[in-house]
Amino acid sequence: MGLSKNVWFELRVVTALLLAFATATGASGQTEQHPTADLLSQLIQIDSSNPPGNERKVADFLAARLHPLGFEISVVQTPLPGKAHFVARLRGDGSRKPVLLAAHADVVGVEREKWALDPFAGVIRDGYVFGRGAIDFKGGLAVFTEAVSRLARSHISLHRDVILLSEADEESGPYNTSWLADTHWDLIACEFALNEGGWIIQDDAGQVQYVSISTADKLSIPLIVTAHGTSTHSSMPLADNPIFTLSKALARLADFETPLELTPSTREFFATLSKTSSPPLSNNLDVLLHSSDPERVRQADQQISRNPLLHALMRNTIAPVFLKAGFRGNVIPSSAEATLNLRLIPGTDFNRLVTGIREVIDDKRVDVALADSATAEGKRASTLLKLSDVLKPSSKDTSLYRALEQSAHSLWPGRPVTTYLFQAGTDAIAWRSRGIPVYGIYPYPITAEDLSRMHGNNERVSIPSLEQGTELIYKTLVQLEAQ
Ligand SMILES: [Zn+2]
Repeated sequence: MGLSKNVWFELRVVTALLLAFATATGASGQTEQHPTADLLSQLIQIDSSNPPGNERKVADFLAARLHPLGFEISVVQTPLPGKAHFVARLRGDGSRKPVLLAAHADVVGVEREKWALDPFAGVIRDGYVFGRGAIDFKGGLAVFTEAVSRLARSHISLHRDVILLSEADEESGPYNTSWLADTHWDLIACEFALNEGGWIIQDDAGQVQYVSISTADKLSIPLIVTAHGTSTHSSMPLADNPIFTLSKALARLADFETPLELTPSTREFFATLSKTSSPPLSNNLDVLLHSSDPERVRQADQQISRNPLLHALMRNTIAPVFLKAGFRGNVIPSSAEATLNLRLIPGTDFNRLVTGIREVIDDKRVDVALADSATAEGKRASTLLKLSDVLKPSSKDTSLYRALEQSAHSLWPGRPVTTYLFQAGTDAIAWRSRGIPVYGIYPYPITAEDLSRMHGNNERVSIPSLEQGTELIYKTLVQLEAQ
């Protein structure tokens, strides 16, 4: 999603004025007092679009920065040249288990012609750092790096090691944190971890509304729907054309809504949202959480579901993402295939959901099955489904969650902190699947408008947000030591 034309026009006017100002004062004036923004700008300038990723360049950059501060550095080279994980460890006395801060160094690619500026120039302008990864997740990498650097410079004596991990292959590719955990677990073993996930939501006036910390991620599972028919000459079509059959099956799924499912963390999140939002959303959330009248709940669900994020939080979702059928203009193919992307709440009974999908399609000519386990996607999906039970939400009852909560309260007094089910997937699975709590946060206050640029065009994060986020994480680490 991009900006409307009007907003762009205003932005250009403001930008022109600011540029004139920057030229007069010198471009570096702004960044000198904003170390995290400056660091983010430098990280964005290392193009780590994945594929191929080139995360090794980020690793080398961070090594040069953190080694002089007393961190022990490990660069884990993957079998792919240029692709590496980076681990920096600040030693404690070893009386407590380490805390880990994990951020992925790779970013998704760009549609360069749709950007108003160079996505890999690290442009600082108009109070923002612009560029691919500003939000997801080089902003987080910059905040975590700056926070642990500040901790190292403070010479506070630590009980536990503090580990900073800059990851490869989060956005795509096989050498992700699961690979790292399987091959170098000793480097990243910890008591608990911070990662990307929840949001610090800011209103348009710049006030923080609430802080959400993700304690679980939805699971992404591909499901293959295949319609079968008779292959024949297209001049004499039969009634069982598989493309028609598949279309009917998909049309039925388009009208199907999976049942409402509120996890404890989604309940907590919605209760927070009902307090910080205005009617009609606040009222609808109240009905959803407290009403015993199924018809009122159904109507509230329908209203709330107009927001795609909230819709995704309260149910398993089904989205067709690929179609495959036909190979010649004069041949009716014998089959037609669609790939559905399912996003599941951890703990979902997968077989029951698939049975439900078959019942909705209600056509014997159509098969519904998990992607073939011989394919990389299918293998990943079946591993994920086997782990589904252990991937239940991380407990709030840890000193790291409490430290994060307290630090958030001290920075934004009176603003609620809530757990959150993250609607997308992250690489937290490497730890959660081993029973280690992971708390997800994009550590900068952000508006809904800025959020819509994530993975989109003109991605940006504000300088004050980056500095507040650094304060949040630094305070969390100091608080953790005190507990
Ligand atoms: Zn990310």
